[in-house]
Amino acid sequence: MEISSPGRLGTTLPEIDVPKSELPDSNLIRKSLNFPEVTESQLVRYFANLSQLNFSIDTNFYPLGSCTMKYNPKLHDEIASLPGFANIHPLQQEESVQGALKIMYELQVLLSEITGMDATSLAPLAGAEGELAGMLMIRKYHLSNGDVNRTKVLIPDSAHGTNPASAKMAGFEVITLKSDDQGNTDLSDLENHLNENLAAVMLTIPSTLGIFDPNIVEICKKVHDSGGMVYGDGANLNALLGKVKLGEIGVDVIHSNLHKTFSTPHGGGGPGAGPVMVNKKLERFLPSPIIIKTTDKNNEPFYKINNQENSIGKMGAFHGNFGVLLRAYVYISLLGKEGIAQISEDAVLNANYILNELKDVLDLPYNRTCMHEVVFSARNFKKKFGITALDIAKRLIDYGIHPPTMYFPLIVEEALMIEPTETETKDTLDYFIDVIKTIENEANTNPDIIHSAPHNAGNTRLDEAKAARDPDLSFKLD
Ligand SMILES: *Cc1c(COP(=O)(O)O)cnc(C)c1O
Repeated sequence: MEISSPGRLGTTLPEIDVPKSELPDSNLIRKSLNFPEVTESQLVRYFANLSQLNFSIDTNFYPLGSCTMKYNPKLHDEIASLPGFANIHPLQQEESVQGALKIMYELQVLLSEITGMDATSLAPLAGAEGELAGMLMIRKYHLSNGDVNRTKVLIPDSAHGTNPASAKMAGFEVITLKSDDQGNTDLSDLENHLNENLAAVMLTIPSTLGIFDPNIVEICKKVHDSGGMVYGDGANLNALLGKVKLGEIGVDVIHSNLHKTFSTPHGGGGPGAGPVMVNKKLERFLPSPIIIKTTDKNNEPFYKINNQENSIGKMGAFHGNFGVLLRAYVYISLLGKEGIAQISEDAVLNANYILNELKDVLDLPYNRTCMHEVVFSARNFKKKFGITALDIAKRLIDYGIHPPTMYFPLIVEEALMIEPTETETKDTLDYFIDVIKTIENEANTNPDIIHSAPHNAGNTRLDEAKAARDPDLSFKLD
């Protein structure tokens, strides 16, 4: 440790109050132990400063579109760390974990209700795993009908990047559908692929352009008429909650990210959950286990962990990420029906406020009401000032704002995808809007300050490919 200096002490050990014992054979003892020698204040400052090096939602605004940190109430972390929840073991007898199983059962019911589906499996451990589960179910469905030639999956070019990967992993051939000039799925392109080889269409809803495709009912109908299934990627449901039930408009299977929409922090590869919700056509194929409600010999409710006979199988060990499931259950239960619908209203309002305040500053490729996020293009900055989306994102760091998602979706040049989320105040949104306008001003007067940003972060611009492939995981405080 670079601040260590021989002889410094951060603590004083108490007087020994037990009998001394002999040390083991001196051959077993290391000659020197490289313990840092620091004072208490040095140590506290060291870790306090270290904790500030990471950008965090607890300290700053985080408008990262699509995969954003939405609302993560601290109370839920506390509840999840209660010993009765945190210390249970997946191999315990069902009798001894009835409370946990009841929560899982009720969460299955709540998620089915929220999405308008008939049944839920909480097993998938991430959004992409939910997609894989969904596609494996669709595969099994077609095979069980003897439909062996249904091998093609249609995915719009505005879909989330994990969708084609999941379809491919489930053994399908992926065909990309074009978006039209409004950002909707091009219906004539869809028509070209409606045939006996069609297995499914995979729609991200709302699309990654942050918009709701008004043709969705028609798309579902056309796909069903030609024997295909409809997969809905509902990773981000915070524009639809309490407003649109995807099951009712024709979607057959949907996953949602509890670690985005339902209270668990997202990012850093931490634990997640991507439950899948299905209609009757797919219910028997759901990944195991499913929690079912039965009665015991005294006729009291008894919850059981069930492995269904026709299931596509398990997605991971045991029963999913219980702590994440618990947070989602608490979140939904505390909000109730009205609270859930309020999320959508606020998420959509906040995103549209930013859209309207900034549409004359940044380019807006699809000028229409957005859902929970808005996708701008910095191509006008690039053309006028030589400033790219990356430059703007880096300069935002200097103003204490986490960079938005950049260069995604791929069909938008110099994309900046901004999701304010439902819980930010108008003051924060106004600050963000002002900062973008300030950056526009700087682009005009002092572009170098943007090109060389960030100036006040722990690191300046990294070689991003090298940082990913050859990370330097040690650190030094200045
Ligand atoms: C985040 C996200 C996913 C993937 O979820 P992971 O948990 O990261 O696997 C899929 N689709 C959409 C639309 C997303 O935003």
